[in-house]
Amino acid sequence: MGTKAEQEKFTKEFLERKPNRCSKCKGRIRYIGGGRYECFDCGNQEIDDFGRVKEYIDEHGATPAIIISEHTGVPVDIINGMLRQGRLEIPEGSPVYVQCESCGCSIRYGRYCPDCIRSRTNSLKGVFFNPEVGEKPQREVKKEDGRMHFLKFDK
Ligand SMILES: [Zn+2]
Ligand SMILES: [Zn+2]
Repeated sequence: MGTKAEQEKFTKEFLERKPNRCSKCKGRIRYIGGGRYECFDCGNQEIDDFGRVKEYIDEHGATPAIIISEHTGVPVDIINGMLRQGRLEIPEGSPVYVQCESCGCSIRYGRYCPDCIRSRTNSLKGVFFNPEVGEKPQREVKKEDGRMHFLKFDK
């Protein structure tokens, strides 16, 4: 999930899967935040992939993308895409993080860690205005020979 083409593919897929109409009355829906939509006519709520995944993480804590996918029906690619785009954050204390594309350290969302962005842009300003920069977790998670995705998540 790095190239422009991959990002465009993600955005396209995400938009295609996003609800456009109320599933009950076919009325128009408006975005009310957190991946949820409300129907203008009947008040019925719809949820998109972002909302489904967010809800799952809120309830179960951070979970490997593959497990979230199994439970929510959201494709793994979409979940990874949301992380990469910073739409979704991995909670503190999680054993599962995304990795900085440059140095490989753990970040909670985005594509690059603040250190790498700083050395790239060579100015602090870049950190605040770059949507691709992620935040490092407070505690670095111990990695066991690259198998961090299989670590057990204990609440
Ligand atoms: Zn409706
Ligand atoms: Zn980095």
